[in-house]
Amino acid sequence: MRLHPLVRHTLTFFAVLNGSGNPIGWSANHRLHHAQSDTVEDVSSPRIAGFWWAHLRWIWQAGQASISRYCPDLDRPQYRIWSRLQLPIMALSYAAGILLGWEGFFWLGSIRLVFALHGQCFVNSICHMGGAPSEPGTDSSRNVGWLAVWHLLQGENWHRNHHAQPWCARLGLTRWQLDSGWWVIVMLERLGLARDVKRPRTARGAAAVPAAQPAPQVAAVETV
Ligand SMILES: [Zn+2]
Ligand SMILES: [Zn+2]
Repeated sequence: MRLHPLVRHTLTFFAVLNGSGNPIGWSANHRLHHAQSDTVEDVSSPRIAGFWWAHLRWIWQAGQASISRYCPDLDRPQYRIWSRLQLPIMALSYAAGILLGWEGFFWLGSIRLVFALHGQCFVNSICHMGGAPSEPGTDSSRNVGWLAVWHLLQGENWHRNHHAQPWCARLGLTRWQLDSGWWVIVMLERLGLARDVKRPRTARGAAAVPAAQPAPQVAAVETV
């Protein structure tokens, strides 16, 4: 989808505030993950070194995916600015709660960040513990229902749906796969703040998701 610049930058601010990193680096890693899913080239695959590699270690140890290869389209000033703003925003994110006292410092800083970061990391770890580990290259992505609670029903936990149709803006495909992110996107679309929203290929939701299959070897086309 394409978002109005005001919405795009507002959402990017909150993503950086919650520790997701800058949009260029995030997008390069994300596109590499889709292009090389479950191969040795997939920087965050648990098949490289298990759960903790996929959950946290890859962030420090795998290195940054090539920006010139995976997202040259985003290597522009409007996105580069977030790389410079990242450190001050994270300092604000960590420490601003002190204005409300020590309780604010811990609950709005450290505890919120631990909650938000592990919620993001679970997408790469727990949501990729499926498939057949002895067969590299087979799709390890899976939907994890209980993670919906940790994600505050925001939809990222329906990760197999996402890998099956990575162009699709909707993550929860059935009535019970709650996806509040999708409801926000629909609202933005109706307000004229989102366009080119990609929907599932069929209206039958889960029926559109094929069974586990070899990971796609082409780069996903996604826009932030
Ligand atoms: Zn993705
Ligand atoms: Zn994935």
